[in-house]
Order: sequence, then C-alpha cells, then structure tokens
Amino acid sequence: MATRPMALRTIALLALAMAAAPAGAQQNFDTVKVTVQPVAGRVHVLFGSGGNMALLTGDDGAVLVDDQYAPLSAKIRAAVASVSNKPVRFVVNTHLHGDHTGGNESFGTAGAVIVAHDNVRSRLSVEQFNQRLNRRTPPAPYAALPVVTFTESMTLHLDGDSVQVVHLPPAHTDGDAYIRFIKANVIHLGDVFNNGGYPFVDTGSGGTIDGFITGADAVLAIADERTRIIPGHGPVATRADLAEYRRMVATIRDRILALVRQGKSLTEVAATRPTAEFDAKWGKGFMTPDLFLDIVYHDLTARHGTR
Ligand SMILES: [Zn+2]
Repeated sequence: MATRPMALRTIALLALAMAAAPAGAQQNFDTVKVTVQPVAGRVHVLFGSGGNMALLTGDDGAVLVDDQYAPLSAKIRAAVASVSNKPVRFVVNTHLHGDHTGGNESFGTAGAVIVAHDNVRSRLSVEQFNQRLNRRTPPAPYAALPVVTFTESMTLHLDGDSVQVVHLPPAHTDGDAYIRFIKANVIHLGDVFNNGGYPFVDTGSGGTIDGFITGADAVLAIADERTRIIPGHGPVATRADLAEYRRMVATIRDRILALVRQGKSLTEVAATRPTAEFDAKWGKGFMTPDLFLDIVYHDLTARHGTR
C-alpha cells in the first residue's frame, strides 16, 4: 500500500481537531447525563457523550446500537432500564471507534451478545496505529470484541421487529454498517451521517470519501418521508436531511476530484475554496473546513491522483 507521507500541516490540523473534538479521553464523564427520547414504535434514541445510541425494546430483550464510552455504561444501563424491563440482549456496533464501542466490555461481560462487521472485530483485536496522529490504541479487551460478525448483512428477529444490519462500502471506516428497524421504520447510519458537521474520513481505518456518497444513496433508496434516521452525531433526521447532506458531500468531492485529476496541489485546491458555501452550516464542528479539505484531498490524491 503506497501511502504518501503526510504533510506536517495535516498532522498539526488533526492534532488541533482532536484536541478540540468533543468527548475526548480527558473528558469528565461524571457530569454527563444520558437521556432517552422516543423515535418511532419500540425504538428510542439515547444521547450522552459520544455516538448516538438506538434502543429497541420488547419482551425478547433490548437491542442497543452503539454504547459510547466505558465510564458511561452504568448511566446507559439506567437509561435503558427507564424504558425497558428487560436487559440488553444484543449490542450492535456501527463501527469500531471508541466513542461507539467503549461500553462493549461492560455490556458483553453482563451477557449481551455483541454484533458487528468482520472488520470491526479484526481491527479491535489488534493494536491500532494512526499514522497521521502517531497515536497507538491498544487491542480491545477480549470481552469487548464482537461475538457475532458478518460480511454483508444479517438480521435479528425479536420484539416484533426485524433488525437488519447491513455493511456499507468503505466510508467513515471499512467496517461501517447501518442498522434498520424495519417495522419501526428507523435507520441508524453511524458516522457515515454526521448531522451538522463535515464527515470525518478515517482513511487509516480504510475509509474513503466516496463511500459517504454511495452509503447515503443506499439509505436514501430504502427510506421514505416517514423514516427517522439516527446519525452517528447530531439530531435525529429525515430522508430530506440525509439528501441535503449527500448533496453537500458529493458537491465538494466532485470539485476537489476534478482538481486532483488536473494534478493541482493542495494549496491550489484550497485557493478555489471548494467548501465555501457550505462552511456556515457544516464547518463549525471539530471537522473544520481546512481539515476536511486536507483529508479529502489526500484521500482522493491517493486513489485518483496523477501527482
Ligand atoms: Zn466514528
């Protein structure tokens, strides 16, 4: 795999972004409140610190999608108990990141079966090394690893609903899945949908910007006007919200790709301000316009570039 050396500027931008990112490792979890809101049918959404969680309840046991950070497991369990008289029977991870899988060890030890794409288990099983950040993440504890993994898709049948777990083309990472509650008409899209900010392409975990577009298309194709879409971060959304996000990502990708194919440098691409009209709405979070452009430029250059 030929990766080109990362510019110092990229590393500096990422370091800044990570320092500014919400819910970093230095966060005080004592002050975090975990809240529960109904979404549709038997599906609730839980907010705390980290990735949004979905919860299906019923007599067969609860299904929890993502579990945030380890120090929040007791609060998440209490929030689940406020709407479910059964414990969590299955945890489904949308992808490997620690703000979505940090509770796996606690829930797994308590008896939940953890479900995720093959690549989530394989990446969590070994030390992760992020070249851009020069940061090492140790292998996850054994009890945190998914027990059931899948390649393309799988379905859980319980609580009067069917829960489809479907792998997406590499986007945020190479282990992304959406979770669709068929009867409730709710879809959790993980970090392939960042509702309120530019998407983070974790190229070190196999992500690509192109996958955000094909991933959004896959969900737009099965969603209708009544579908509620839970993003990895940000408020619960509609199909129209996802369509707008998809247009934003595709417009920026297409502009940068055209310039990459002409052999333009990052400085030359930045001078055209390819994200300009989107920055007010999507560029206020930890994924700043500069950082987003930098990551997308390097991703597209590695795969389509002539330089
Ligand atoms: Zn993530």
